[in-house]
Amino acid sequence: SQIKEVQFVKSSPRAKDCPKDDKPEFAIVGRSNVGKSSLINSLVRKKELALTSKKPGKTQLINHFLVNKSWYLVDLPGYGFAKAPDAAIMDWSAFTKGYFLNRETLVAVLLLIDASVPPQKIDLDCANWLGRNNIPLTFVFTKCDKVKGGKGTRPDENVRNFQELIDKNYRQQPPWIMTSSVTGFGRDELLLHMSQLRNF
Ligand code: GDP
Repeated sequence: SQIKEVQFVKSSPRAKDCPKDDKPEFAIVGRSNVGKSSLINSLVRKKELALTSKKPGKTQLINHFLVNKSWYLVDLPGYGFAKAPDAAIMDWSAFTKGYFLNRETLVAVLLLIDASVPPQKIDLDCANWLGRNNIPLTFVFTKCDKVKGGKGTRPDENVRNFQELIDKNYRQQPPWIMTSSVTGFGRDELLLHMSQLRNF
C-alpha cells in the first residue's frame, strides 16, 4: 500500500476537465489550515508536492496527482477561508459540488478534520452534505499529536464529539482514521485503508 511514485498530472477548473482514464481516485478536502498539505506530503514522503496546488491561481482548481501509475490523489480547494471574499466561497461550493456529484471514478472523499479543536459547523455541514448525496466518505482527523492534559484525551474527545454530531439520517458512521503529520501516526493505516477501498 506504500506510495513509490507520484506525478503531478493536471489542474482542472471544472469536473469535466479532469483526467478521463478511469483510474480510481481519492479526493482530499478540508478547511483551510486543517493540515492538508502536510498530510499529503507525509503520505508521499515529499516536502513540497502539495505546493503545486498552493501556488497563486492553483488553489481554486482540482489538482490530480497520479500515484504508482495506478490511482489518483486529488487535492481540492480548501473551504472556510477567513479572508476570501464571499464570491470565492460561492464559487468553491458550486464547482466542488459539481466534482463530487459527477466524478464516477471517485472511490471516497477523505474529509480532513482538525482533531485539536472542537467540532466546527462548516465541517459538519460538509460531512452532512456528502452524506445526503451518498458520496463515500472517510473522516481523517489531523493534528492528533496536539494533546492537552495527557495522551489522547483532548483529540479523542473532539473526535468522539464530531462523530456524535453527524446527521445519522443519511448513512452509517463513516470509517475514520486518526493521523499526525508531525509524528507520522496513522499514515500507514490511511494508506492501507485506501488500498482496501481501491480493491473493493
Ligand atoms: P492546509 O492549509 O490545510 O494545507 O494546512 P497545512 O498543511 O499548511 O498546515 C497548517 C498548519 O498546521 C501549519 O502550521 C502546520 O505546521 C500545522 N500542522 C499540519 N499538520 C499538523 C500535525 O499533524 N500536527 C501539528 N501539531 N501541526 C500540524
